[in-house]
Amino acid sequence: MKLFDVYPLFDIEIKSGKGCYTYDTEGNEYLDLYGGHAVISIGHSHPYYINKITEQAQRLTFYSNSVKNSLQQQLADKLGKISGYEDYSLFLINSGAEANENALKLASFHTGKKKVIAFSKAFHGRTSAAVKVTDNPKIVAPINDTFEVAFLPLNDIERVKKEISKGDVCAVIIEGIQGVGGIQVPDTQFLKELRNICTQNQVVLILDEVQSGYGRTGKFFAHQHSGIRPDLITVAKGMGNGFPIGGVLISPAFTPVYGMLGTTFGGNHLACTAACAVLDVMQKENLIENAATVGEYLISQLKTIPQIKEIRGKGLMIGLEFDYPVKELRNKLLFEQHVFTGASGTNVIRLLPPLTLSKEQADSFIGKLKNILS
Ligand code: PLP
Repeated sequence: MKLFDVYPLFDIEIKSGKGCYTYDTEGNEYLDLYGGHAVISIGHSHPYYINKITEQAQRLTFYSNSVKNSLQQQLADKLGKISGYEDYSLFLINSGAEANENALKLASFHTGKKKVIAFSKAFHGRTSAAVKVTDNPKIVAPINDTFEVAFLPLNDIERVKKEISKGDVCAVIIEGIQGVGGIQVPDTQFLKELRNICTQNQVVLILDEVQSGYGRTGKFFAHQHSGIRPDLITVAKGMGNGFPIGGVLISPAFTPVYGMLGTTFGGNHLACTAACAVLDVMQKENLIENAATVGEYLISQLKTIPQIKEIRGKGLMIGLEFDYPVKELRNKLLFEQHVFTGASGTNVIRLLPPLTLSKEQADSFIGKLKNILS
């Protein structure tokens, strides 16, 4: 059987990783500034994390959600505490798309409506609110008709008000910082007004923190830079440091009902153990503070490079926009300088390193980038 070929791949096979570095089958070392789409939060192969999941795997990896699993409550307690959302409830699933899908369902059940507002260039996974992410006309949004999705320009509150005034909107879904869309940061004032307008009209505000959450921007969630509190928050990626797990944080305004949501694998023993270990390490090693300080330092150093047209982002979620397509630059970074980076669209390099990145590693990247640009 061949693999269904829907992703372009670099001809490199990564065999192992340690901290912010990965190693290929030929023994080459790479500085990893991408973490496999923001997934590696506490660094590759963290010894505490490995011990915890190894111990758990030797006992039990999974048992059905029809019996009690106290690891789920342990995770909810830790997550509530570190995120500042102790009064919210947690529903566990396996990925970011599932988290958003369940959040949209909750919003629809809660309001009895099915129109969703999302924003141009947003990406919420391959969900009902999927956005056209390529120029290929065969891939269009939305991908099914469960929800009707209106895509509005980011930061345009008047357009949001107009759409909501039609009375059929169940939810607004917005990324803490747009990742796939090019590291676009929503304005603080826009988020505050969005919160108010949703409250006034009983519209559910969903913050998709799948990429921007889990400490990446120097606060636990990116929206916390604006001081707002959404009704639903979705998480995944960095939550398990590579072990697939996702979650929806649900405000106390939602009442759970048996059968409302469901899952086979969500919240399994191994996934919860991985997610608890991630939070333990984040706390013990002050990784949120590290993301803030090293991110600020990295951005200040990037600003000294005149070839970069614009630098956007917060903490360790950074976009570097160039005047030209970055494909060649990224290839040179990877194949000549051994640095993994990501891209958003054609002209933006996306940096999503482990939150353990040090200033020395940031300097090493700056040196390598300057080597190529000079
Ligand atoms: N939401 C955002 C903001 C994302 O960036 C992504 C993935 O890139 C998703 C949702 C989908 O997550 P997953 O690939 O785990 O389904």
